[in-house]
Amino acid sequence: MSCGGSGDDSKTKAKTTDPNVVEITIKGNDQMRFDLDKIEVPAGKKVKLTLVHNGNMPKTVMGHNWVLLAADADFQSFATAAVSAVATEYIPDSMLDKVIVHTKLVGGGEQTTIEFDAPAAGTYDFLCSFPGHSALMKGKFIVK
Ligand code: ZN
Repeated sequence: MSCGGSGDDSKTKAKTTDPNVVEITIKGNDQMRFDLDKIEVPAGKKVKLTLVHNGNMPKTVMGHNWVLLAADADFQSFATAAVSAVATEYIPDSMLDKVIVHTKLVGGGEQTTIEFDAPAAGTYDFLCSFPGHSALMKGKFIVK
């Protein structure tokens, strides 16, 4: 009588184990590219994001991180400030209030995982803040 077969419960492509956790893997390579330029997550979920550096170059010359900027952050201002923030792995102390979350910096063959609560519904910028990388290594993080 019920069970009419209106199955529409698998819209997200993200792999999940815990239904409240969305797992995302994003890869960076030696060609200064992420494999994703758009990440979508449902509002109200926990996000478990793994950054994989699948290249071979060391982090001193081809480091990658994943930085999620606050909605009111200015992408270019952040990227510019990040260039000189060597001591803090390119996360400028002066702009921490513009960062929702970030991974550590990784080199070839390394990976790192962070967990955070998805921010409020909206569209956010993400980038790798290693000097020169944000021109190519960037994308949109969409919460809906
Ligand atoms: Zn990078």
